[in-house]
Amino acid sequence: MTIADSTTNTALVDYENLYIDGRWSAPTTADRIIVKSPTTEAVIGGVPEAREGDIDAAVAAARRAFDEPGGWAHWSPDRRREVLERFAVELEGRGADMALRVSSQNGMPIWLAEQFEAGFPPVLLRYYSELAAAGQEEIRQGMLGKQALVLREPIGVVAAIVPWNVPQAITFLKLAPALAAGCTIVLKPAPETVLDAFLMAEAAHAAGLPEGVLNVVPAGREVGAYLVEHPGIDKVSFTGSTAAGRSIASTCGRLLRPVTLELGGKSAAIVLDDADLGANLESFFASTLLNNGQICWLGTRVLAPRSRYEEVVDMVTDLARSLTIGDPLDPATKLGPLVSARQRDRVEGYIAKGRAEGARLTTGGGRPEGFDRGWFVEPTIFADVDRKATIAQEEIFGPVLSVIAYEDDQDAVDIANDSQYGLGGSVWTSDPQRGADFARRVRTGTIGVNAYSNDPTSPFGGVKSSGMGRELGPEGMTAFQQLKTIYLDQPND
Ligand code: NAD
Repeated sequence: MTIADSTTNTALVDYENLYIDGRWSAPTTADRIIVKSPTTEAVIGGVPEAREGDIDAAVAAARRAFDEPGGWAHWSPDRRREVLERFAVELEGRGADMALRVSSQNGMPIWLAEQFEAGFPPVLLRYYSELAAAGQEEIRQGMLGKQALVLREPIGVVAAIVPWNVPQAITFLKLAPALAAGCTIVLKPAPETVLDAFLMAEAAHAAGLPEGVLNVVPAGREVGAYLVEHPGIDKVSFTGSTAAGRSIASTCGRLLRPVTLELGGKSAAIVLDDADLGANLESFFASTLLNNGQICWLGTRVLAPRSRYEEVVDMVTDLARSLTIGDPLDPATKLGPLVSARQRDRVEGYIAKGRAEGARLTTGGGRPEGFDRGWFVEPTIFADVDRKATIAQEEIFGPVLSVIAYEDDQDAVDIANDSQYGLGGSVWTSDPQRGADFARRVRTGTIGVNAYSNDPTSPFGGVKSSGMGRELGPEGMTAFQQLKTIYLDQPND
């Protein structure tokens, strides 16, 4: 149901039912998740909050859909591709609404929501359904003279748990490969971003996804933990904080349940002594401050050579000052509000910590003038940050950069690797070969030279406390498959 709200001029979106087993069904309790605009702080919608009984129903539906003889898991990849192509088309038809819903809920600038949240999911659906259709079995010629048939079978019922920062793109890092592989899914969106998940369910329904193949149960941590433990789940795919990831990993360890974890980061943006940062400012912004600083792979530790330290500090400071802060629905906005009051408190806590630890604040540090409503924080740059300082080691998840000086290339590598995390990163240089050679020395799952941009074809994920496993690329589908070998009592060809 959509009602025009004249006070905020934003649509108010309310849902009464959960999407379980291919239909909109009444929730087991009257509990609700209420969504507020991070810009106006006004209520913009609500959905039922799933409780344990709803999780049971969703898992049971996904289980039936997976186990059913001749069902989704047993369809040919080509047949699944037809449905997933319709799903992509239905999402495209809702693209503008999707971008609007995400921006309205989490403060993501609308131009970014159009690219990431509306644009990326259909691309992923098409990429993975083609990949699955390209063949999931092969005959191996054995060393002992006989052949074996190696199959990639769908792993089963997947619990997909996603955060609020890039909700649709992250959802489809899981849904697209899992569905293409033949899995069925129970999706638990984060409470902050639920309205987009319901629109996505509408698209799936319109596309004719069979009953039970996709179930959407928004809830908080406790119910999320219940889902992770549920006996009907075969695989957990989680994106979120490292703390939650550890807890989920320990449950999955006890249950011997396969799990993929995409967790936090504190990546390094390493400016080499030959860098022409001025020529790459837009890319540098996208690699360090995109989405109001709320992306896991951002390079929030800027490493600058001592020989050019003040120049780099000035450039990064000027960049931060140049950003247009405002309503995320305004296409001119570069930096919107943070997702919630809680997130703003957290970021402000880190800014206070940076000051207390003696870092030099070159710009920002407060709330922008003229915004008496909304969870805005100024883009904030700290210089003279000690490599061991709290703001150099912990993930802030807001528009705050720490500029750290290094002496030579080896020192830069050492500082970059002096982190519990290893998710993203970037190297800035006038010599691309030098950049690629340098990138090899950084202990991280992904890193860019003079830009950082994910691509569907290449694996994405972290090392150390940034996670386990990979999404994207063929590896991202392997995560939803189980290998089976059938030894054929037949001689090699
Ligand atoms: P969060 O861990 O609090 O929540 C993420 C999701 O997990 C939510 O849906 C939440 O309800 C659920 N959840 C939390 N604890 C759970 C538990 N014990 N069992 C089951 N479900 C649980 O994280 P957040 O604050 O929503 O998101 C920000 C974090 O996510 C940041 O640390 C960021 O780096 C990380 N992140 C990582 C990636 C990546 O790909 N590596 C991408 C985006 C965000």
